[in-house]
Amino acid sequence: MPATTKVIRKPKRKLTEQTYVTEISKGLSLTMSRFFKNAFGPEDKKEIATVMYPEEQREYPERFRGIHRLTQRAGGEPRCVACLCCSTACPAQCIHIEPAEYAEDDARYGYERFPAVFVIDELRCIFCGYCVEACPVDAIRMDTGLHMPPSTARDHFLYDKETLLSLPSRDGTYESGNPRHEPGDPTHPGIDRLQGH
Ligand code: SF4
Ligand code: SF4
Repeated sequence: MPATTKVIRKPKRKLTEQTYVTEISKGLSLTMSRFFKNAFGPEDKKEIATVMYPEEQREYPERFRGIHRLTQRAGGEPRCVACLCCSTACPAQCIHIEPAEYAEDDARYGYERFPAVFVIDELRCIFCGYCVEACPVDAIRMDTGLHMPPSTARDHFLYDKETLLSLPSRDGTYESGNPRHEPGDPTHPGIDRLQGH
């Protein structure tokens, strides 16, 4: 079967259209009318989508998680037991923890550890939340509702233990609603490494 050819005629345009004078004038008049409206018009009539950050800030939705925080125990110490579950689960490998043992006369000695160093590189973080899911003791959360303040210094994005402990949740608390049974508490199951389990 022979191929058929469809002829498409070139559309006829007037000289003013071919030189784009009218269209350029229309575009410029629209641009200028928006400029004067937004620069000098009443506030409620302005059509500006730009947010003048940091003086102006958008309100984040309820489900926005925000940067991490480390939850505190009643005495202000981290709940973290330096188990490394979060750093193991982290796909971006941006959590660095150096575990340490409590002193021998501490009830937690031989039972749990604490993080001597706990650093999150918030610039490498992809905010997946896996670290929060992996933590067995509710020690790390992403409920601050804050984003990182802008900075040009790389090390400003390395959040250390003290910084992470100093950040409150959206409702202003530093602790966690989940109960924690410390060794020696009447509610503690009484099991530790020395007593065997
Ligand atoms: S949110 Fe994801 S990427 Fe960020 S520290 Fe946690 S596990 Fe790593
Ligand atoms: S934050 Fe949680 S998961 Fe990470 S080391 Fe501490 S206790 Fe383990």
